[in-house]
Amino acid sequence: MKRFLAMMLAVLMVFSLAGCTGASTATEEPATEVTGVSGTFEGAGEGKDGAIRVNVTLEKNVITGIEILESHETEGLSEAPMQEVIDQVLTKNSLSIDEVSGASYSTNGLLEAIESALGAAGVTVADLVAVAAAASDQTPLEYRVDVVVVGAGGAGMTAAITATEAGADVIVLEKMSFVGGNTLVSGGELNVPGSWVQENKGVQDSIEQYTADTLKGGDNQANPELVAVLAENALSGAEWLRDEIKVNYQPDYLMQFGGHSVPRAIFPEGGSGYEMISKLKAKADGMEIPFHMNTRATTLLTDENDRVIGVEATKGDQTVTFFAENGVVLATGGFGANVEMRMAYNAEYDERYNSTDQEGTTGDGIAMAEKIGAALVDMEFIQTYPACSVKTGILSYVADTRFDGALLFNKEGDRFVGELDRRDVISKGILAQTDSIGYLVWDNQVTEASHMDHFQKEYDELVKNGELFKADSVEELANHFGLNLEKMQAVLDQYNEDMKTTGEDSVWNRRGLKFSIEEAPFYIQKVAPSVHHTMGGVVINTQAQVMTAEGQVVEGLYAAGEVTGGIHGKNRLGGNAITDLTVFGRIAGEEVVK
Ligand code: ADP
Repeated sequence: MKRFLAMMLAVLMVFSLAGCTGASTATEEPATEVTGVSGTFEGAGEGKDGAIRVNVTLEKNVITGIEILESHETEGLSEAPMQEVIDQVLTKNSLSIDEVSGASYSTNGLLEAIESALGAAGVTVADLVAVAAAASDQTPLEYRVDVVVVGAGGAGMTAAITATEAGADVIVLEKMSFVGGNTLVSGGELNVPGSWVQENKGVQDSIEQYTADTLKGGDNQANPELVAVLAENALSGAEWLRDEIKVNYQPDYLMQFGGHSVPRAIFPEGGSGYEMISKLKAKADGMEIPFHMNTRATTLLTDENDRVIGVEATKGDQTVTFFAENGVVLATGGFGANVEMRMAYNAEYDERYNSTDQEGTTGDGIAMAEKIGAALVDMEFIQTYPACSVKTGILSYVADTRFDGALLFNKEGDRFVGELDRRDVISKGILAQTDSIGYLVWDNQVTEASHMDHFQKEYDELVKNGELFKADSVEELANHFGLNLEKMQAVLDQYNEDMKTTGEDSVWNRRGLKFSIEEAPFYIQKVAPSVHHTMGGVVINTQAQVMTAEGQVVEGLYAAGEVTGGIHGKNRLGGNAITDLTVFGRIAGEEVVK
């Protein structure tokens, strides 16, 4: 669950100027002579989630401070990229900055706000005084540590903290300007058989039952040895998150994702991966683990015995080498955001599918490991989520109305799939329709039964993007997106009749039915499937060591999280990604130090 919070950020004034702080409007008259303009000026831009307002301080046409007065951008995802923009603008005294990875709507909105403040000052971008090229970057081109962790998502940070706890000197490389990967944009729930929450609620569960559910959920294609390790260590992993990392979990709430025989997913505060990622980062910072951001690992380095001895990475236009005495932990996530790679392994998942994934999820670690002889497994097994934004690919929580009674139509005004069918069946069903779009339709009764009100921010954004429409009549609803009204009305009439007579859906046999759809206001939302998780990846053994096709250990190379394959078989059950990265992230961190 992705949370959006209205935030008022006070971003530091990098250089303080007497008499120029704190003002929200011009504090001095623009003086445009040779000396240039000085003063503090306000500007506004449009971010992903609304207005971004800034104060920009100028001293003789040099930007000396940028303060964010208002921002509503996504917590956890936007702060670091926006700070990077500010740092670059201040360093270069220019709006022509190097590309900042991630949160592009937010960073563009921020640049727009800065430009508008310059406009308020009567200064054009061209007027900004060119500053001398920054003193040459002091980044050493070579580092030598015990352990290099590649990727700062859940698995990478878990491994880095564990290895540091075991006494190693660790460096983390992250190609994006923010930490968290897909873990950050996930719901953050994890399956834990025998958890304290199950105990509180009197839910009977066992390691054996969880193992059986996980194997069955993956069509019995997973490696049973890895699943056994997952199940046996899930509880100690969750206790570690709770006690050492201080992640807060709701004490009396459990989720039961599809395929699990009992409710067993513990639920973090806020229902988002942000709770876990922010706490992991705080712990890592407390341990003074260095994070090299915007640093993309490109090559695994090996010695003459094929042992992995480090990583080559690029940072800006520099190549930096990180030597690892003990070993490298790959925690680079999956490849859901890499269409070319998806198609290379399974042609079905072409560009018709967007992705719910963070844009850094491009399979780099898998490709790097394969190049030095690592075996890959289950690469063709790719999981989709059926109801996502047609514009961004992000998983839609508003569209969870599907579980509360919303119906799925096509442009021709007909239903075409069981709304509660398996994710892959619905996904393929939608893609087979006109424009590869499904139209989810519900009414006031469904709204009231749903938890749509938790996602007001997403709702507003969908409306703003033209993906969701609210109307007083079915006619208005159908006409808005050009659906065949006559057919749609007939289908709805039949459905409503079913609800009132037998209570059974005679056409698509929709389970768990509750409501007819006839009470205004009505809603219609465009939805499309997105790639959500890639089950395949590098082969590991139970010590998280990467293996070759011949069954040999690749010395010095460990892997954890979505970069690995074999744990989920054909299909990952909900809540198992976080259990996986916690268990194997900890194992990788322990083993690499041994
Ligand atoms: P997991 O759930 O397995 O931890 P995530 O998707 O949460 O996976 O995290 C993977 C992280 O690895 C992301 O933050 C991603 O940006 C980062 N990453 C991916 N490729 C590279 C790379 N080549 N170099 C450095 N970091 C990378």
